[in-house]
Amino acid sequence: MLYLSTRGGMDPTPFGEVLLGGLAPDGGLVIPQSYPAIDDATLTRWRTLAYPRLAFEIVRLYAGDIDENDLRALVERTYTASAFGSDDITPVLALEDELYLLRLSNGPTLAFKDVAMQLLGNLFEYVLAREDRRLNIVGATSGDTGSAAEYAMRGKAHVRVFMLSPYMRMSAFQRAQMYSLGDANIFNIAVFGVFDDAQDMVKSVSGDLQFKKRYSIGTVNSINWARVLAQVVYYFKAYFAVTWSNDQPVSFAVPSGNFGNVLAGHVARMMGLPVRKLVVATNENDVLDEFFRTGAYRVRRGSETFATSSPSMDISRASNFERFVHDLLGGDKAWVKRLWRELGTQGAFDLAGTPEFARVSDFGFVSGRSTHADRVATIRGVDAGFGVTVDPHTADGMFVAERHREAGVPMVCLETALAVKFSDTIVEALGHEPPRPAAFDGIEAKAQRFTLMPADVELLKRYVAERCEPLP
Ligand SMILES: *Cc1c(COP(=O)(O)O)cnc(C)c1O
Repeated sequence: MLYLSTRGGMDPTPFGEVLLGGLAPDGGLVIPQSYPAIDDATLTRWRTLAYPRLAFEIVRLYAGDIDENDLRALVERTYTASAFGSDDITPVLALEDELYLLRLSNGPTLAFKDVAMQLLGNLFEYVLAREDRRLNIVGATSGDTGSAAEYAMRGKAHVRVFMLSPYMRMSAFQRAQMYSLGDANIFNIAVFGVFDDAQDMVKSVSGDLQFKKRYSIGTVNSINWARVLAQVVYYFKAYFAVTWSNDQPVSFAVPSGNFGNVLAGHVARMMGLPVRKLVVATNENDVLDEFFRTGAYRVRRGSETFATSSPSMDISRASNFERFVHDLLGGDKAWVKRLWRELGTQGAFDLAGTPEFARVSDFGFVSGRSTHADRVATIRGVDAGFGVTVDPHTADGMFVAERHREAGVPMVCLETALAVKFSDTIVEALGHEPPRPAAFDGIEAKAQRFTLMPADVELLKRYVAERCEPLP
């Protein structure tokens, strides 16, 4: 399998090369040349596979330049009961007839991002060793992504992580998760400022091409293709868990921000998984809901982006969305390029009235949004009805899912984090603290290790240069 750019400006490139890269050279996103078609017999054969075997079968279709035996071992090492809490890795909980919760949040940092990031950590280590390369990851986080990346890369050879976070602006639990890591290749930098200050520092470091090249700087953001690919696996796994025959359709409801998670559902569907609906659920930051309702994609300004009780979905633009638009437009890369140029100059494009936009529903996509009050009410309802405490992101998905259920079609709601990470909203909804997994007892009391830094790019560069992985 070779990879192209959504905007047409990249020669066909193997998986091992796109793995460590970010955007395609023309500013587009990296996509596979085609989606492998999974026939009925293969689906049947995959039905009974354990998670790591299924992951191997799917990833190998897209990563032909990784030795099969190495890949099998790498995947087995990634998806273990000790890392993810059970042999199922992503267990499905039946809530009532035709309503399910897909539990994706039992990895090391209690959010679904672990499922992809843990594989990415092992893939990075493998490819860096194979090619005798080094990688220094510089990133900014407001919570979930940074900790998932650190737990994925900790102790890995040839890679170091420099993670910026806004000083004293994450929850005590999130701070403890990140800052208590003692691994020598992990550097936590607490920036005096807000998330955007930290993000701007990272952008200027990545924008300094000379510095970037000299110190082999990379990122692990949500546009990484391997992260999307790793997420495709649990759509198949969940489909098999709630059906007994390959002619049964299943719908999925996905709390969405950067569109990485639901894009993986789209890829699974394009491969032939019988997916009925992909329910894109947003919070008050509803740029995606607006597109699926109207055909207009209008990115928001900073001042139009709200801080909500589902902070991991507080986005002004959806970085993976371009991959779906590419497929919606029938792979017309020149058109994608024009649209994103328009987005750059006008901040919006509009597909309303085009035959292509009329086909959105053929791709299974529907959408909806929730408010804070909707999420609080859903957390209460799910607690009262099923005795399960869900986090505000998962509640968002369940709220929107309710409006898209159909008789005879199971609805699988993706759980994207555990409630313990967002205890303020749980206390507001239920009047008590959320349940906490035993392994996290007293985590706030552990010793913390981080460096305080003013929002100064030159200081950051010096810090990275002095501590980065030496090049071979
Ligand atoms: C990242 C995240 C999301 C959004 O996922 P995308 O792939 O960006 O759409 C939703 N919920 C939680 C808890 C997250 O961490």
